[in-house]
Amino acid sequence: MQNKLYTGKCTAYSSEGHGIIKTVDGVIFVYGLFLNEVAKVEVLYKRSGVMYGKVKELLEKSPYRIQPLCKVCTACGGCQFHQLDYKEELKFKKGVVEDALKMIGGISCKVNDTLGMEHPYNYRNKIQMPVGFDKKKNIVSGFYKVKSHEIIPIDECAIEDVRATPIIKKIKELMKSMHIDPYDEDRRTGIIRHILIRTSHYYDELMLTLVTNVDSFPSRNNFVKELTKSCKITTIVQNINKRDTNVILGEQERVLYGKGYIKDKLCGIDFVISSKSFYQTNYLQTEVLYNYAMKSAKLKSSDVVFDAYSGIGTIGLIASKSSKEVISVELEKEAYKNAINNARNNNINNFKAFNDDATQFILEYAKDKSNKIDVLFMDPPRKGSTPEFLNAVKQLSPSRVVYISCNPATLARDLKELINKYEIIDVQPVDLFPRTFHVETVVLMSKVMD
Ligand code: SAH
Repeated sequence: MQNKLYTGKCTAYSSEGHGIIKTVDGVIFVYGLFLNEVAKVEVLYKRSGVMYGKVKELLEKSPYRIQPLCKVCTACGGCQFHQLDYKEELKFKKGVVEDALKMIGGISCKVNDTLGMEHPYNYRNKIQMPVGFDKKKNIVSGFYKVKSHEIIPIDECAIEDVRATPIIKKIKELMKSMHIDPYDEDRRTGIIRHILIRTSHYYDELMLTLVTNVDSFPSRNNFVKELTKSCKITTIVQNINKRDTNVILGEQERVLYGKGYIKDKLCGIDFVISSKSFYQTNYLQTEVLYNYAMKSAKLKSSDVVFDAYSGIGTIGLIASKSSKEVISVELEKEAYKNAINNARNNNINNFKAFNDDATQFILEYAKDKSNKIDVLFMDPPRKGSTPEFLNAVKQLSPSRVVYISCNPATLARDLKELINKYEIIDVQPVDLFPRTFHVETVVLMSKVMD
């Protein structure tokens, strides 16, 4: 099967943005092949009964194919749509949500057109790149090639905040001149494993985290001095990760410069962002998403709001401005602590945070019949929620549920659990990750009268 060539027409997209070609031997998912294009395709590998291939020769081109802004998009593989007109990408995203609702949830309902960006580039406020040596012993940074640990060198990424580019370049220059070697995964030698940069949109602030394989490294003070002299950096943190693991960040951290965190203002509220906190990566579209979610919920000053999977408290704190009280639940201790601090820093007193598993918490909460909530916001991770959580929601019976999801498949599965008690009022895809297949969705549900 491997290396076999097929010629065919792309008739659909997979949910991960591959072009699909049907052959007598089964379907092939092809990266960078768009609807109605005809191509000669080479099979690279097979996984779960599906062949994955790459274009060998493009025989008929889509009228929507464009010149990519990213020079390495085919080698990197991180973005699926650099070569497609953005409007077509937005249509694809609406289609993914419609298909998931229909096929997984058995739900046929209107899905609004995807809300996209005016300039769908340079949006990422979190940039993380592994560092290593190339074959000529040059220090390179970039992204891992799909399904490998080979670094594709990237000097400029079209979806990243432009402020990161010169800093990464300077870090590599200083590493070279100060003989600070990148980490070698195979030999487990070297010092710097990853460069992580987070930027604030509202404030002129930027945080650099250097993930190192050692506690302390030679010329550290000099390195920091030189770097901050020539680059605009608010704070530098050293994160120590000595483990043989794919997880980027280690437990231990040390502030090398500045305060160790940055601040951003989202929907009028200040949020503290540390190297580990979850914070949406596309500022402008997050405001679109959260404003849409708030508008959908039609909050009243008498409403009790529940914010499940709350992270650093973003949604709940924004909702607190227009409601009576907010109860937020988050599993990660650090994020929960951030939520409490964020409430304090913004002088918000009607926000209560709990550090717990959302399902455990809501099961306990629902036991007390005097507990009630009016509006539930839920924003779970990609794996979605649990039937237990959703059953407890039905018991608590809020009049409105606003489900924010980054995975249409688990969204559809979870909505199916609620559908006998709630009706879907509005489904709005929002593009938080332009040029990639990912899509965020806000769903408003309203309780069906008993
Ligand atoms: N609403 C936040 C965070 C969404 S990401 C925002 O928009 O910024 C999903 C969050 O759910 C993460 O912070 C993750 O730590 C948390 N989480 C994952 N599993 C959980 C669980 N079982 N119970 C509670 N929180 C959970």
